[in-house]
Amino acid sequence: MSLIISRMRPLFVYGTLMRRFQNEGARRLWDGAQFLGPARVPGRLYMVDRYPGLRPAHGPDEWVHGEVVMPANAETLVPELDDYEGTEYRRVETEATLETGEKIDVCVYEFHRELPESKLVRSGRFLAWALVLLTVSTSLSAQTRRVSDAEVRKVHRSAILIDTHNDVTSRTVQGFDIGPRSADGHTDLVRMKAGGMTATFFAAYVAAGNTEGNRSAHRALQMIDTVRRDIVERHPQQVVFATRAADIVRAKKQRKIAALIGIEGGHAIEDDLRLLRDYYDLGVRYMTLTHTNTNGWADSSGDMAKEGVQHHNGLTDFGKQVIREMNRLGMMVDISHVSDKTFWDVLEVSQKPVIASHSSCRSISNIPRNMTDEMIQAMAKKGGIVQINLGCEFLSQKSADTSSFGNPSLRPDSGVKIVRATIDDVFAHIDHIRRIAGIDAVGLGSDFDGVECVPEGLEDTSQWPNLTRRLLEHGYSAADIRKIYGGNLLRVMRAVEAR
Ligand SMILES: [Zn+2]
Repeated sequence: MSLIISRMRPLFVYGTLMRRFQNEGARRLWDGAQFLGPARVPGRLYMVDRYPGLRPAHGPDEWVHGEVVMPANAETLVPELDDYEGTEYRRVETEATLETGEKIDVCVYEFHRELPESKLVRSGRFLAWALVLLTVSTSLSAQTRRVSDAEVRKVHRSAILIDTHNDVTSRTVQGFDIGPRSADGHTDLVRMKAGGMTATFFAAYVAAGNTEGNRSAHRALQMIDTVRRDIVERHPQQVVFATRAADIVRAKKQRKIAALIGIEGGHAIEDDLRLLRDYYDLGVRYMTLTHTNTNGWADSSGDMAKEGVQHHNGLTDFGKQVIREMNRLGMMVDISHVSDKTFWDVLEVSQKPVIASHSSCRSISNIPRNMTDEMIQAMAKKGGIVQINLGCEFLSQKSADTSSFGNPSLRPDSGVKIVRATIDDVFAHIDHIRRIAGIDAVGLGSDFDGVECVPEGLEDTSQWPNLTRRLLEHGYSAADIRKIYGGNLLRVMRAVEAR
């Protein structure tokens, strides 16, 4: 079940400069599109009579009876401009519910060009809007289109590709040089370049064992140092240290790889907000609240069934302070690894969008590290994103069932061979999230060098163009792909950076 671009039905358009687009643009951009007619109402977009049943799906403040205004998060979206014969536009997708209960995807087009009626200008730059409906009945899973190598290259190059979770730091901290092509592992600069990558969040991974003897902060500092010294300083021609969305965009222009830091394991702060602030000052821009261990202030999905662990039923009061302080500092809250109750607590407390830096969909592969549809949708409503983990067990139920990680009843020495996932499984997760939560809610968080089994077709950091091909084959547009690869994350980063 999937959306198909060519079946989009533009519902209405708004703004005088839209005429050309209205008359010919949509037809060209989406073959077979049918306009249902424009509606002009100053200051508002008006829902045409054809769809009188459209009712609020985002709460009374965001949808007005009989009329449509933009969803609250629309203005925080990063301009992902496409070009239609000199008219720049971008697309924002959201969901609405018809009175019949049928859910539809609503697609709003935002045009960046000056309107004479300046009172209509929103935020000084959003100049005209059009809204279209997508029909949701057509399945794309079976049908694919032919895609040329040139198209794959062009679209791939146009994207800012950001991977939010890479564990090669566990190697560099032991002396591994990320520079030359390596015969093993998933990550080195040669392969990252070949894969067209722009940025990576390198994990400052603090294993649970460091809590013994209070060495968690010590370990976190070592891991931060390996990013700054062994990855960035050692390769100044190719890598640049980054802490902000703008740094990533600049790195793309400079054809460098932006290196960012995310702490994995909230025990790294040793229950002290002062350490959290120190980490921010050292350049850390997200923190995974827990690893596989419940810490002093947040429950982990990794030990909920373990006896003898002191659980908190989610976040403690101090844990909530941690979230608020991360919001205040401008450090992204990462809910990968946390227990379900911790997730819901975080969503309630956080004033900023949150990320799952390396998790996938539980409805496809049922493991506690993945997220339920309900969680994904709730997170998306608050502007958050799920960054797909490429570990086989995260992607495929068959893989999960045949590994001791996904299937605790299997002993590690059972001799059962893990069934390998494929790049089609990766696509299935992306498409699932797009379908249930929208294109703005999905990204990439490979977990390369942190997982052993990776999917066929996406074996290391050089293989990303294969994913671009898959997405294009399934009808994804270049703009969609740019969102998935980095546009969505840049949007979240900017929202989190904003004071
Ligand atoms: Zn992890």
